[in-house]
Amino acid sequence: MAVYQIVKLGDPVLREVAKKVPKITPNIIKLLENMKDTMHEARGVGLAAPQIGISKRVVVIDVGEGLFELINPVIVAQEGKEIDAEGCLSIPGVEAEVLRAEKVTVEALNRHGEKFTITGKGLLARALQHETDHLDGILFIDKQISK
Ligand code: ZN
Repeated sequence: MAVYQIVKLGDPVLREVAKKVPKITPNIIKLLENMKDTMHEARGVGLAAPQIGISKRVVVIDVGEGLFELINPVIVAQEGKEIDAEGCLSIPGVEAEVLRAEKVTVEALNRHGEKFTITGKGLLARALQHETDHLDGILFIDKQISK
């Protein structure tokens, strides 16, 4: 088990467009394991690799429906709109309302390099959108609804 330091707002890595994973190597498997440990330790529901300073398109999510590992995730369908409060492990102590799709379908590779799709609603949909945004250097505060 290895727990990484979570990178905080202001670190330029959070604003980079993360690189696609061209090939799943033992290092990527190790990255997935360490990201899972880091997310659980921080009591987060999702973590993107840039949040531990690694600019690669890798995400882990656990909203209580089991662990999802996503490599090179892409949102391929979305439906509905929903406003809800959101936070981020990289921006501690901040919560804001964000408009997201209510339901999304994401296509990604698993740790075996196989393509799979995941469709989520509610919190899972929100986490999928929040984490894939991280891979494009987008943070939830960019999308917060002004009051
Ligand atoms: Zn975040």
